[in-house]
Amino acid sequence: MKTTAPFHPCMNHDAHSRVARLHLPVAPRCNIQCRFCSRKVTPHDTSTHCPGRAERILTPGQALEKARNFMEQWGRDAIIGIAGPGDPLANAETFETLALIHGAFPGANICLCTNGLLLPDTLGQLRALELRHLSLTVNGVSPDIVQHITPWIEYNGRRIRGADGAAILIDHQMNGIRAASGAGMFVKVNTVVVPRVNDHHVPAVAAAVQAAGAHLFNPVPLIPGGSLSSHSRPGCEDMNRIREECRGSLPVFELCKQCRADAEGIPGREACA
Ligand code: SF4
Ligand code: SF4
Repeated sequence: MKTTAPFHPCMNHDAHSRVARLHLPVAPRCNIQCRFCSRKVTPHDTSTHCPGRAERILTPGQALEKARNFMEQWGRDAIIGIAGPGDPLANAETFETLALIHGAFPGANICLCTNGLLLPDTLGQLRALELRHLSLTVNGVSPDIVQHITPWIEYNGRRIRGADGAAILIDHQMNGIRAASGAGMFVKVNTVVVPRVNDHHVPAVAAAVQAAGAHLFNPVPLIPGGSLSSHSRPGCEDMNRIREECRGSLPVFELCKQCRADAEGIPGREACA
């Protein structure tokens, strides 16, 4: 059954230049290692436009105040999201923040961006908080490929390396998408396109996440960082070809700005990275 995209600036092209979103940087820790990750909290730096960057980390109480001011400015339809700078689900502060917002503003449009490792374990909490939108980054559905992007994960206090860790990550991502979509959430999947590592594999990701219940697909070009800081980015032609190849599986979102973890405002009115 076709699901209508919510009026959300990262999930609906018509909303991209009309709806505001706020990212609350309350989640510094991550539970996996992506080779391209350049997560950094840098005071007074608001000009580096890429995921994982924030000027500072907010406490849940500070985040509530920020969300309150934001909704006063932009209205109750604004999206209140948590997108790091680490993985939101790996930080208790995410759940504290969402509980405060849910208590103060029942029915607020809350959203999360996650790697999905903890999604099956936390879905009940997210449902109780009435989370409606979820954005998951899935960089492959083959452990042999994913291990070259994510060399390790940490789960239940254990660090698991290589294809074994990648297999657990993929398994949790697929189960998480099935459960979230089954619970009525709108699920967008992002895939970071890494030339010569997963670029040929992106249509397989689109097909697998569609089968699991995702609603929208968002391939984004690698922003070189971390141990891939010298890696090349895919070109526009490559990205356009990949988007075309994926359209047979899912609608494709094409306007993603790959925002900072403390981004605020209307994404379609902001400068690109
Ligand atoms: Fe939600 Fe992610 Fe968009 Fe932020 S970037 S509003 S958390 S989908
Ligand atoms: Fe960095 Fe995000 Fe990957 Fe975690 S999931 S290592 S924060 S890119």
